[in-house]
Amino acid sequence: FVEIRHVRKSFHGNLILRDITLKLDQGEMVFLIGPSGSGKTTLLRTINHLESIDSGEILVNGQHIGYRQTSAGLRPSRSAARDRARVGVGMVFQHFNLFDHMTVLENIVEAPIRVHGIDRATAYREARELLAWAGLSEHEQRYPHQLSGGQQQRIAIIRAVATHPKLILFDEPTSALDPELVNEVLVLMRKLAAAGMTMVIVSHEIVFARDWADRIVFMEDGQIVEQGSPSELFNRPKSARTRAFIELVE
Ligand code: ATP
Repeated sequence: FVEIRHVRKSFHGNLILRDITLKLDQGEMVFLIGPSGSGKTTLLRTINHLESIDSGEILVNGQHIGYRQTSAGLRPSRSAARDRARVGVGMVFQHFNLFDHMTVLENIVEAPIRVHGIDRATAYREARELLAWAGLSEHEQRYPHQLSGGQQQRIAIIRAVATHPKLILFDEPTSALDPELVNEVLVLMRKLAAAGMTMVIVSHEIVFARDWADRIVFMEDGQIVEQGSPSELFNRPKSARTRAFIELVE
């Protein structure tokens, strides 16, 4: 469903992703873990072309985002935003990135109406259904500054879901939250996984990853060191580096 082939990416001459190849299946909840600076966030952002790549290829559901295939090879496409909407990729950021001047409901219907062309009545109905599903209906008329960080992040997740994505990318969704607010966000993410959403998550929530991930990908120094089910990685790590990292964070 997501195919990453021989991707290389550098910033100012420093190679940050070194020949990454990775395949993800539909419906999987996959965690990218690894030490700070190993390239996890950069890899996640390349999937929906928030970062360009130097070489290699990334396909989501068989399609490119930010590039188009021409007879002369891959060339930049006209609009990565339109590609993301067409392919169906949502994103959840560390700092929520809600629109401050809009209510919760307005935040959620904005992209469905403006980018995806869903009619207003349908967009509002679906937004209310999603808020009810997530147990957040009481907040629909509030503004982001009237909500806790955990509530804001759950709204940001609902906002992503409202665009009917086939894949949602999460960039450290709980790392800006006070510890007591982390769980409510993780519960919603689990609910989404149970509903069959394909999810790629960069996170330091190692215990959550161990308990709930379908697959964990361990990165270090711009490379995938090892990947597998949580029990493979936690109980039978093949690499000494994986073992050392897990022992450090557990
Ligand atoms: P963390 O867990 O700390 O978020 P990470 O594994 O997600 O780390 P990245 O954020 O992908 O790592 O960063 C990998 C490296 O790329 C770092 O050395 C970082 O400084 C560098 N880097 C990331 N984005 C940029 C940028 N826009 N310009 C220059 N360097 C960057």
